[in-house]
This record gives sequence, C-alpha cells and structure tokens, in this order.
Amino acid sequence: MLIEKYRKTIEACRFCPMCKVVCTVGNITKNEANYPRGKALILFTILKKMREFDEDIVERIYQCAICGLCKDWCISDYDIPELIMAARADIVNSGKIPSRVLKIYENIRKTENPYAMVNDEKISAVLDKEIRETGKRAKILYFIGDTAFSHPEIFEATIKIFNYTGIDFTILPKKNRGVELLYQLGFRKEAKRLAKENAEVINEADAEVLVTSDADEYLAFKREYPRLGASLNPDIKIMHITEYINLLLQKNKLSFSRKINKSVTYHDPSSLGRYLGIHEPPREVIKAIPGIEFKGMKWNRSRARSCGASGGLLFTNPEIAAKAAENIIDEATEIGAEIVVTASPLCRQSVGDCKKLRNSSIEVYDIAELIVKAF
Ligand code: SF4
Ligand code: SF4
Repeated sequence: MLIEKYRKTIEACRFCPMCKVVCTVGNITKNEANYPRGKALILFTILKKMREFDEDIVERIYQCAICGLCKDWCISDYDIPELIMAARADIVNSGKIPSRVLKIYENIRKTENPYAMVNDEKISAVLDKEIRETGKRAKILYFIGDTAFSHPEIFEATIKIFNYTGIDFTILPKKNRGVELLYQLGFRKEAKRLAKENAEVINEADAEVLVTSDADEYLAFKREYPRLGASLNPDIKIMHITEYINLLLQKNKLSFSRKINKSVTYHDPSSLGRYLGIHEPPREVIKAIPGIEFKGMKWNRSRARSCGASGGLLFTNPEIAAKAAENIIDEATEIGAEIVVTASPLCRQSVGDCKKLRNSSIEVYDIAELIVKAF
C-alpha cells in the first residue's frame, strides 16, 4: 500500500491535535475523524490491517481540501496532504471508489474536463474572436487549463492582455487537460497518461515560455509532472500568469490607462501560495493598477484560508466547499474590501458561486478580469 511510505506521519499525527485549529474541513464539519489526527488514526487501523477501506473511511479520506494548512502549521513538517493523496490512490487501486469521485473520473475520461462540458460554442466564439490561429509556433504558449476553459471570461481576459501588449503567443490546438485534480483524487495512472500526452504536445509546440492561468495545473507542471515521469523540455520556462504579467510591468511592457477606485483584497490559492510560494507577484500586479486601495486579508500568504475548492472537494463535497468559501467572503467583508481577486479559476468559481448564493455585494474576479478593466 502507498500509505506505508507515510508510516511516520501516521504514527505521529494520530496523537497530535496541534493543527486542528487550522483544518479547513475539520472546522466546518466538526467531525473529529475529519481533522488530521482523526484521519491519521483511521489510516493507522488500515496500516495495521485492523480495518479495511469501507464506505465511512473512504468518505473521511475524500473529505479533505488538500489545502496544506495542516502541513504549514506543523512544526515537525509532517505532510498530511501527501498522506491523504496516497490513501486516495490506495482506495482507487482497491476499487472502492465512491460514486461521486468516479463520476468526475468518467467526466474527464469522456469529455476531457471534470465539468463534462461538451457544448463548446461559447468557447469557440471567444477563440475565433481573439485568436486568428491556434497551434501556430510562438514565443509564448498559453495553457488555459480545464477550469479556465469552462469559464471563457477568464481566458478571454487573459488573451486580451496578450493582444493588448502585442505578445507573440499561441494556445494548444487540443483542449487543455488537467492533471492535478486526477492526481489529488488518486487516479495516478490516468494522471500519468494525461501528463505524458500533455508534455508531448507542449514540447512539440517549441515555445520559450509556457504560461498558465490555472494555479492547480501550474502546481502539476512543477510537482506532479516530474514525479509522474512526464518530461517537459527543460528549456521551456514555466510561469503562472501573475508572474508573467508582473514581469511585463517590470519591463514597462504593460501599463494601465483607467483607474479602478475600489478597495481590493487578494485570496491566495493554496496551490500557488502555500505550495509554490508565489505570494508577491499577484499583489504587485493588483497594487500597480491606479486607484486601487489594497486591503490584505488577516489570514494571508502561506497561512491563507482555503476556499474549499481544492482536493476535488468542490466536486465531491460542494456543501463543505461552499462553507469554506463563505469564510473568504466573510473575511473580505470584515476588512472592508469591495472586490476579492484571486489567481486560480477554481478559487474564482468557488468564491464567486458563494458570493451569488449569499447575495453579497462583493465583486469576485480572476486577476486577468481585473486587469482588463484598467485598460
Ligand atoms: S501535521 Fe503536525 S501538527 Fe498536524 S497532527 Fe501531524 S504532527 Fe500534529
Ligand atoms: S489538507 Fe486542509 S482540509 Fe485536509 S486535513 Fe489538512 S488542513 Fe484539513
């Protein structure tokens, strides 16, 4: 079993309540079995062959946002998210996959995205309007990512930024299939196959820089592709859109002509902030827009709260994800922000949906959507 590799984590965490205070899912569900200690205790019984994966245990293992707050909080650096992802892969290998999780897998297998999105008319309209030629050779290769692909307003805004600055760019001729969600849900074989296929297409495109809007796929390029044996050409520089835009600003290749006279806060996506340490580029980009009053969240950077979308939670347990997103809206309201900006289409979806449900007056945008408002 893959959890064997994390025996030390299991043995240490089953006695420890120290990161309970920050656990996203535990503090929403108030279920002891959902905190890191509870999960470790459950997996200890599996490791010792006292129990097998049953419906209840499987449910506990999928009720985790893989948000990494527990790992960040831990002074001993035990890695609960890696343990949970290994346990999920063991569940997949055992065939005891819950139907909600299997549905996501089937959606990806059949339609190449977790949303089972088959009607591409709106997307095609945006691509036809903004790009004359896809799949051509260019300096910048824009990897849209499957969540941004299902929200044309995000990639439309990003493409507008490229066009506005006159950058030579292209997008992949095929859909931009996501690897991170499959990996986090435990489907390692499928994640490996997709990562290898994506790497082949990306390498063939022969670009200098690979830019993505998708914070989770950025994490996949940096962390999952190497461990899945999917080799991206080492000469290709991989950048998140916030890093690339910040670079354009530093080189005076991007400027703003309109003011946005609003107070704006930034929600750090776990994948971009906590896992990859990219905290400052998005803040610098937002602060560069004239008129904006930047208001920092109380919980920020590596200690930022999770919006609950990651780890597949938005798909498997949307009611828990919605509660986590409420925390973001509440915190933004508390600090007096009028706009919440994030740099992950998945976070934008989660926090944006929550804003609609709550009928909050706070506006929620992906960073690219905010930028084009200042052109
Ligand atoms: S991750 Fe660290 S703080 Fe959390 S339960 Fe394990 S040992 Fe304790
Ligand atoms: S990764 Fe997040 S949700 Fe999962 S146990 Fe850790 S803090 Fe809780």
